[in-house]
Amino acid sequence: MLQLNADTIAAIATSQGRGGIGVVRISGVGVATLADGLLDRLPEPRYATLADFKDENGEIIDQGIALYFPSPHSYTGDDVLELQGHGGSAVLHLLLQRCLNLGARLADPGEFTRRAFLNDKIDLAQAESVADLIDATTSEAARSAMRSLQGDFSAVIHGLLDDLVRLRMLVEAMLDFPEEDTDVVDGTLRDAMLQAIQAKLQQTIVVAKQGSLLREGAHVALVGRPNVGKSSLLNCLSGEEVALVSDVPGTTRDVLRQAIQIRGVPLHIMDTAGLRESQDEIENMGMARTYQTLKKADLILLLLDAVNGCTPEDMEIISSFPVDIPHLLVFNKADLLKAQHDVFDQDGIYISAKSGEGLEGLREHILRLVGWHNQEGGTFIARERHLIALNLALTHLMQASAVLQRPELFAEELRLTQHALNSITGKFTADDLLGEIFSRFCIGK
Ligand code: GDP
Repeated sequence: MLQLNADTIAAIATSQGRGGIGVVRISGVGVATLADGLLDRLPEPRYATLADFKDENGEIIDQGIALYFPSPHSYTGDDVLELQGHGGSAVLHLLLQRCLNLGARLADPGEFTRRAFLNDKIDLAQAESVADLIDATTSEAARSAMRSLQGDFSAVIHGLLDDLVRLRMLVEAMLDFPEEDTDVVDGTLRDAMLQAIQAKLQQTIVVAKQGSLLREGAHVALVGRPNVGKSSLLNCLSGEEVALVSDVPGTTRDVLRQAIQIRGVPLHIMDTAGLRESQDEIENMGMARTYQTLKKADLILLLLDAVNGCTPEDMEIISSFPVDIPHLLVFNKADLLKAQHDVFDQDGIYISAKSGEGLEGLREHILRLVGWHNQEGGTFIARERHLIALNLALTHLMQASAVLQRPELFAEELRLTQHALNSITGKFTADDLLGEIFSRFCIGK
């Protein structure tokens, strides 16, 4: 049911700075009054109308296209007016100020999308994917976000919920009529349904992990002694594949970070400081700092000189790696090796940043080690929050299988499974979580 918002919100929806076109967006019950004051009339719904945008003295602030979307057929579900004017900061601010003077208030970040969610135009997973689409740094991440926005992820969750509700109905029936002679039949059906849901949930977790990897990217620590070719390798790996955003939140001054992508998977390469310093540094502060960096990595690449092989110092470095993080030995400068060699051997992978030899194999290997495996038909974008909810749902489902003989407990575990899944699409979501999610959006979205 639509809950029309009493207040009317406005924001500049296009990004800061100069641009050919700039958009001011307004949503709420006051749109018609506002259009009267600003445009002298309400534009015909859904038609691009050339209009003068006027100030309180009737002077023209800008001329552009006005689009009116009456409730409920709009992005937010409220009445929406979009004004496409010239994309200059001053002119857009004049236009926005005029909207505020006519009774609108400045929209909070993500408030348009929040209204769309509250008005049931989209569910929470879809709303989150709007922000993920805007924030996507690789084309693969953008495509996955679009799949989520179109409801692919939500459809999987709804499918699971439907199956779960059917199972709950069966179990409740068994609880209500325990004396009926249907125990054997129903028990078999119940177990089959439970197993099917479990399998589907596990598969969903696999896909969601891929989606989360596309969204967050993986952290790869690049370690190696001076001159082994770390900069050269980074240049090769980035090449045309530099991710669009290079500033990673939480960057420390000690570690150089570079954002690259391999087949659409964003990778945050952390070029560790400690091992770039002298031998002394390694043994002192540098090593401690490096270790802190290594602990945060999803994968450690140790770059070595193929001609020298793995030296005792290198062995020492390897022994300092956190044991729970995978590492890969990469022997660079393989072009200088006299003898024939395989790209892979049991020690690691041989490459040449100079000739390009072995780089394809290295890319594949990196992707595999950070947990990427190509999904047929593409994946959907997912967040850490979704993974936590999916895993919680799976835990409750497992607990349900453990209490098959206790129907009340079994029913309760199913209810908790359903609750965890519902939190993904936002059916029952606490206000503070909504606040947290939408506050990370940009203003005007
Ligand atoms: P870093 O100190 O680890 O960043 O190493 P650099 O990338 O600056 O490389 C050190 C030197 O090794 C430079 O002279 C590079 O041209 C050279 N180099 C890097 N990779 C290769 C390679 O694969 N083969 C050869 N022959 N030289 C390389």
